[in-house]
Amino acid sequence: MEYPVSVKGPQHWWPGDTPFEVAVGAVLTQNTAWSNVEKAIDVLRSSGAMSAQALTALPELELATLIRPAGYHNMKARTLQALSAWLMRHTPHGDPAELVDADLQALRADLLSVRGIGKETADSILLYAAGRPVFVVDAYTRRIGARLSLLPPGVDYDTTQSFFTARLPVDVQMYNELHALLVRLAKEHCRAHPVCSGCPLQVLCPSTTGTGVLSADRWQSEVHKRRSSS
Ligand code: SF4
Repeated sequence: MEYPVSVKGPQHWWPGDTPFEVAVGAVLTQNTAWSNVEKAIDVLRSSGAMSAQALTALPELELATLIRPAGYHNMKARTLQALSAWLMRHTPHGDPAELVDADLQALRADLLSVRGIGKETADSILLYAAGRPVFVVDAYTRRIGARLSLLPPGVDYDTTQSFFTARLPVDVQMYNELHALLVRLAKEHCRAHPVCSGCPLQVLCPSTTGTGVLSADRWQSEVHKRRSSS
């Protein structure tokens, strides 16, 4: 996994002015494009609502209206208020950066009990907002892992996370950078229909065809051919 880091350089992931804003972004980005999240974050900032205290004080309906650009606004308003209340219970000022000394496994389990917070969101908050060493898995990680034959197709979240954490140093910066690079690779090359030409992992990848964009049928047939001959 050193190759793409050296090719692409630091990705400076994840956007946000404060750890709390990063945590808000991790909730708002569920099932929507980041451009929509940015619009909702701008509204929260300009309304003076970008803090755990302010978010819990807002009526739920009002918060839902403010974050409407991010989609699923009623559900996300409930989640943001639950997360804000959770942060205020677990930290002196409702700031994820203050989670730095808590027992990590207990903290993660407790965060996962917050309504609307799934594994990817919890781990994004812990890594990017709290600076804790938790490897974040998403659909891109699983897709690339399967195409590199590191993981089976359809592999679940926990298996994928364990695979990477067993092989990487426990390092916040490493987890941060690798996740960002995998996302970039998935967007630029390892798409649903892969663009293998120019992919920095091509020389390592048993699924590569090296022939640019493939049709879905051609992709399936190439993978099958290569796996049967290996
Ligand atoms: S070579 Fe192709 S299939 Fe392999 S990781 Fe790169 S884009 Fe994905």
